[in-house]
Amino acid sequence: MALPVPISFEFFPPKSPEGAQKLRAARARLYAAGPQFCSVTYGAGGSTQAGTFDTVREIQAEGMAAASHISCIGATRAAIRAHLAALRGMGVRHLVALRGDLPSGYGLGGEFQYASELVAFIRAETGRHFHIEVAGYPEMHPQARGPQEDLRAFADKVRAGADSVITQYFFNADAYFRFVEDARALGVQAPIAPGIMPITNAVQLLRFSDACGAEIPRWLRLRLQALQDDAPSIQSFGLDVVAALCRRLLEGGAPGLHFYTLNQAAPVLALCQRLGV
Ligand code: FAD
Repeated sequence: MALPVPISFEFFPPKSPEGAQKLRAARARLYAAGPQFCSVTYGAGGSTQAGTFDTVREIQAEGMAAASHISCIGATRAAIRAHLAALRGMGVRHLVALRGDLPSGYGLGGEFQYASELVAFIRAETGRHFHIEVAGYPEMHPQARGPQEDLRAFADKVRAGADSVITQYFFNADAYFRFVEDARALGVQAPIAPGIMPITNAVQLLRFSDACGAEIPRWLRLRLQALQDDAPSIQSFGLDVVAALCRRLLEGGAPGLHFYTLNQAAPVLALCQRLGV
C-alpha cells in the first residue's frame, strides 16, 4: 500500500510508558505505508530531550531512518554542540532544525535568535554530515513582521544550508502553491514537502490551529462546529477533506507528504489507503 510519492511521519516523544507502548504499536502499523523517514519533535528549551532521544533510538532500532528535531531558542552554542555530538553518536544523519518556542517560565539568554543561525552553526560544526530540514509557513509564521519579511527570512534560512523543507499544516492548497512559487522566485531550490494534519478531533484542531497560525477556512470551521462531538462523522468528513487536499497537492507538484501523526496510526493509514489505492 506504499504511496507513489515519498512520505514521512512525525511523532512526539510520549510522556509515559503506556504512551511509549501505544506509539510502538502505531509505528509498527504505519511502517506498512513505506515512509522514507520518521521524525521526532523536540520541546524547546530541551524539555523533551531524553524522550526525543529515546524515541529516535527506538525508530532506528526498528530499522527505520529517524530524523531528530532540534531547536535552538534559549540554547548556548556549547549546548547545541553537545546535542549534535550526541546525535552523531547515535548514528543520526537527518535533522529538522527549528528556532522553537520557549515554554512560558523559561528565561531567554540563549545564543541563537533564529533557525537560520542554527542551520549555519550545524553546517559550520558538522559539514555535510546531516541532512537538514527546515520549517516553512505557507500562511506566514504567526510572529512574522509581514509576508515579504517572512519569505525573505525563510529564503535566508534555506541558503544558510538547509537541504529540504517541511511546511506547517494548512487546509488551503493555494497558499502552498503560492508559497512554493514565491520561494522559487527568491532562488529557493530545495524540495518543499507539505505538512499534512489529519482531521480527527475538531476541538483540538481548532485550538491548536489558533496557537500555531494555521488557518481553518470558514467553511471548514463551520462544518466541524456543526458536527460538534459526533466523532465518526468528523473523522469521515475529515478524511474526505484531507484526502482531497493531498490529491490536489500531489497533482500540483508537491514532492511528497509529511504527516503529523499525533502518534496515531489509524487516521494516517486511512488517508494513505484513500490516496494509494
Ligand atoms: P525561524 O525560521 O527562526 O522564524 C521565526 C520567526 O522569525 C518568523 O516569524 C520569521 O519570519 C522571523 N525571522 C527569521 N529570521 C529573521 C530575521 N533575520 N530577521 C527578522 N525576523 C526573522 N517547535 C518545537 O519547539 N519543536 C519541534 O520539534 C517543532 N517541530 C516543528 C516542525 C515543523 C515542520 C514546523 C513547521 C514547526 C515546528 N515547530 C517545532 C514549531 C516552530 O518551532 C515554531 O513555529 C517557531 O515559532 C518558529 O520556528 P522556525 O524554525 O520556523 O523559526
